[in-house]
Amino acid sequence: MTFDELKLAPAILKAVHEHGYDSPTPIQAQAIPAVLEGHDLLGGAQTGTGKTAAFTLPMLHKLSMTRSATNKFGGTGVRALVLTPTRELAAQVEESVRTYGKYLQLSSTVIFGGVGMNPQISKLKSGVDILVATPGRLLDLQQQGMLDLSQVQILILDEADRMLDMGFIHDVRKVLALVPKEKQSLLFSATFSDEIRDLAATLLRNPQSIQV
Ligand code: AMP
Repeated sequence: MTFDELKLAPAILKAVHEHGYDSPTPIQAQAIPAVLEGHDLLGGAQTGTGKTAAFTLPMLHKLSMTRSATNKFGGTGVRALVLTPTRELAAQVEESVRTYGKYLQLSSTVIFGGVGMNPQISKLKSGVDILVATPGRLLDLQQQGMLDLSQVQILILDEADRMLDMGFIHDVRKVLALVPKEKQSLLFSATFSDEIRDLAATLLRNPQSIQV
């Protein structure tokens, strides 16, 4: 299979080819069509399988096909939210968003703890289409009234098992309460404990399961 068969926008395919990818990895070949069709997704995948592009590419495609939103500050409203357990992973995911989205007119930013809040606050106010974040700092900023998640259409939990291992379950559930009920949700995890299955059952509606 080639990427060209996956019905992604030409601007995305161009960036993917420039990045040197010829064919989708197994998780990409399964996840991309499912997400484009609008399904919720339960993805069992380790790092190194290409899971970042598996959710980033269809997310970018969907956002590029619909109109931007406006946040309560009058800026661009967040339409896609990606939660990750660590700042390193958050930064890496946002880098992928920039790489694959370089020919699209979409904005993104990353927020995580351990650094100053002010630059993050000004970015959030002016607004972004895609926000990649760790749960703790996201909630901090939300509690300060600096974040509007009322327009989120796509929610992605990346490495959900690590998120729970690191004690973020309450934070994750708080974030879930801040986004609209009506949305598309994707959950990726390398392992599936009862707690993960419970979280998946709360979040996902008739999900397609993919295991690689
Ligand atoms: P990930 O599992 O998302 O962390 O990706 C693991 C590595 O595989 C990264 O270095 C990616 O750049 C690379 N990668 C992802 N998708 C592909 C692909 N379709 N072809 C070649 N390399 C890829």
